[in-house]
Amino acid sequence: MQSVLARPGDNARLDTLKAALIAAVGPDGVRDDADTLALYSEDVWSASPHRVRLVVSPRSLSELTLAVKAARDAGVAIAPRGAGMSYTSGYIPATDDTVSFDMARMDRILDISPEDMTVTVEAGCTWAALNAALSPKGLRTPFWGPMSGLTSTIGGGISQLNAMFGAGHYGTSSESVIALTVVLADGCVLRTGARGVDGTHPFYRHYGPDLAGLFCGDCGAFGVKAEITLRLIRTPAHEDYASFSFATGQALMEAMAEMARASVASEMCAFDPGLTKVRMKRASLASDVKTLGAVVSKEKSLGKGLMAAAKVAMGGRNFIDEGDYPLHVIAEGRSAAAVAADMAEARRIALQMGGHEIENTIARVIRATPFPPLNSMLGPSGEAWAPVHGMVSLSNAAALFTAFQGLFAEMAPEFEREGIETGFLFTTVSTNAVTIEPVFYWPEARRPLHEASVEASHLARLPKLAPNPAATEVVAKARRRVVEICEGFGCAHFQIGRSYPYRRSRDAASKALLDDLKHALDPDRRLNPGGLGFPIPLES
Ligand SMILES: Cc1cc2nc3c(=O)[nH]c(=O)nc-3n(C[C@H](O)[C@H](O)[C@H](O)COP(=O)(O)OP(=O)(O)OC[C@H]3O[C@@H](n4cnc5c(N)ncnc54)[C@H](O)[C@@H]3O)c2cc1C
Repeated sequence: MQSVLARPGDNARLDTLKAALIAAVGPDGVRDDADTLALYSEDVWSASPHRVRLVVSPRSLSELTLAVKAARDAGVAIAPRGAGMSYTSGYIPATDDTVSFDMARMDRILDISPEDMTVTVEAGCTWAALNAALSPKGLRTPFWGPMSGLTSTIGGGISQLNAMFGAGHYGTSSESVIALTVVLADGCVLRTGARGVDGTHPFYRHYGPDLAGLFCGDCGAFGVKAEITLRLIRTPAHEDYASFSFATGQALMEAMAEMARASVASEMCAFDPGLTKVRMKRASLASDVKTLGAVVSKEKSLGKGLMAAAKVAMGGRNFIDEGDYPLHVIAEGRSAAAVAADMAEARRIALQMGGHEIENTIARVIRATPFPPLNSMLGPSGEAWAPVHGMVSLSNAAALFTAFQGLFAEMAPEFEREGIETGFLFTTVSTNAVTIEPVFYWPEARRPLHEASVEASHLARLPKLAPNPAATEVVAKARRRVVEICEGFGCAHFQIGRSYPYRRSRDAASKALLDDLKHALDPDRRLNPGGLGFPIPLES
């Protein structure tokens, strides 16, 4: 396989492309120093064997369009990247002639319209920045962010779908989309949605077939999102928190499934005993103090805030029995009575499924600090961290968890040999699905992406570990086995990247349509080659 930039005349081609990109975005928007190329060639899970050749950072739709055209003319692959917080090889180079499109400088909030209940952002805007801008206006998007939202972008979240805040009531990030402005592989600009009198103010998603839907969850394989319009809601005035503990994961799964059916939670999340152990090890006194401050400021009056913080402090972190599965439920609504009714139903379901109520400290803290620093991408002793997940129907959640437990029991000797610790994170999406996320921690050297993303003060406290390919190979095997089990349950996945079997799992007619779409949108297969399972073209 030979890269278009690695043929005779390679340097001249690369120089020509670099000059064209500089003309498109300015000299400060094109980087090719070794450190930057290494950073953009890896994600949270792995470093690619290939290196991106250039990193281009456009600041606007017009700069993005010019940069895509320059890449098209050079015949190179385009890898769009938000904050790089994913772990499924979604944006790392699959070939030796890839240009990374860093969307982080396209971070403006272009328009907030309380009249039309829409907000339009550039794709590199973070969820934290969006929420900071909306919150003083009493507004919110229905789904309002993943836990990585301090740095992860709305473009990344729409391109691979997200779960977490608001997902219990409103589903994934993509379900808040009204309209997209997408730059296609040839540099054409495609705008979706009903766009009002002047054609520039999208106000409704559905007008005929849902073209926006094609680009939601496309992992950047169909186009580069430049601008995104999301639906707004008024921020629910009331919220409440409750936590429950279950003796088995199966009981927890039945309870979460029933709470999802009843739609009692704006979001909920749960941990297994393994993950609880890691979380307890990680939290420090300093972070406790910061957290209490956030809990105080979240309440409407200082008195209420201090009471809430005192409860959190008294609850501490030792109220969860070591072998239990804690579930944290957050309810929200327009009136205190409606929230109380949802909480009463959550309590009834938890008790019915054998749970008992525990301190709601963690549920409170999750809401008070929704977008914490991304320090949890390393384990408490500096270990590598990588999740994998399956999104399963409510009726199959307990059985899927049992299957995962079987796999982990089978692989226990290998985990033990390599010092690999495991845990599970659980959440729900809308009234239809449970997401089960096995998580691995293992001794492995940290990489440039960890250095760039974890707080410096936190990094300084962590030991530097040696490279450990043997342990990483066992984790890779476990992740593959989890995906195989998920296939048997017909699971869906967020963050498909190049890790989940999307294209090959579709029926013949769907696969043919997908291939036709890819051909129409990106005939030379230059957009994120290999993404969604489309074949990586052989370079000539
Ligand atoms: C500590 C931590 C906590 C996390 N918590 C959550 C959570 O609560 N919920 C959750 O769902 N995920 C979570 N994640 C996973 C991850 O952060 C999210 O999937 C997030 O959406 C990644 O966004 P990003 O901007 O970093 O995208 P990237 O990782 O940069 O890119 C993701 C994919 O989108 C494509 N892409 C990015 N921008 C564009 C664009 N403008 N146009 C086209 N394609 C594009 C990329 O090519 C890639 O395929 C977490 C990760 C970490 C490290």
